[in-house]
Amino acid sequence: MHAVGIVAAAGSGLRLGAELPKALVPLAGRPLVCWAVDALRAGGVDEVVVAVPRGEREAFAAVLPDDVLLVDGGASRTASVRACLAAVTGRATAVLVHDAARPLTPPAVVARVLDALAGGALAVVPVLPVVDTTVRVDDDGTLTEALPRGALRRVQTPQGFDAATFASAYAALGDDADLTDDAAVVRAAGVPVATVDGDERSAKVTVAHDLVVAELLVDA
Ligand code: C5P
Repeated sequence: MHAVGIVAAAGSGLRLGAELPKALVPLAGRPLVCWAVDALRAGGVDEVVVAVPRGEREAFAAVLPDDVLLVDGGASRTASVRACLAAVTGRATAVLVHDAARPLTPPAVVARVLDALAGGALAVVPVLPVVDTTVRVDDDGTLTEALPRGALRRVQTPQGFDAATFASAYAALGDDADLTDDAAVVRAAGVPVATVDGDERSAKVTVAHDLVVAELLVDA
């Protein structure tokens, strides 16, 4: 297996309240994107392609190793992943897509995803159980329904795919598609998606509080 990691790092730092692109915000002194790239490599990924915000290549090149390929991201996460996919070499047999916003993903999660692909899965996502009671509300915020949580899962990254399956699912997707993850892309193409255990440490850094928690985890 030759696994290529795609890191979606072209988002803004808006919700984090940062002036920098979010992926360049430091965690324990290192940009989030560096942590994410390291996690993929430590878990067994062979090459890494990173989608960066337009005009920010130099800033990313200054903090990432020379052998990481940088491409201009797009207006949505889906467009950023598509841009990376265009740069993935024909050698790839597996593609793992990861968020730069998940700096503390343990390499064991990456390894679990790769193992599932090696075992024949065409698509695999790391998941966690839903521990809170989970409800649906109407437009006014009034609770309308409690969902049986036993069958619900929270989906993380990296999400792994057979390379050919992934490329054809993206090719079939409309130009302006904007999906929140990549499993949705292959599911739209009718591909079954397997799951492996995720990890709480792989939580996404979205708002300032998440960064505080991540700093505490690094210290621990
Ligand atoms: O905004 P959110 O946290 O959901 O973004 C998830 C990941 O997608 C982040 O790592 C972000 O950098 C990336 N992203 C991207 N291109 C965009 C928007 C988000 O690569 N246009």
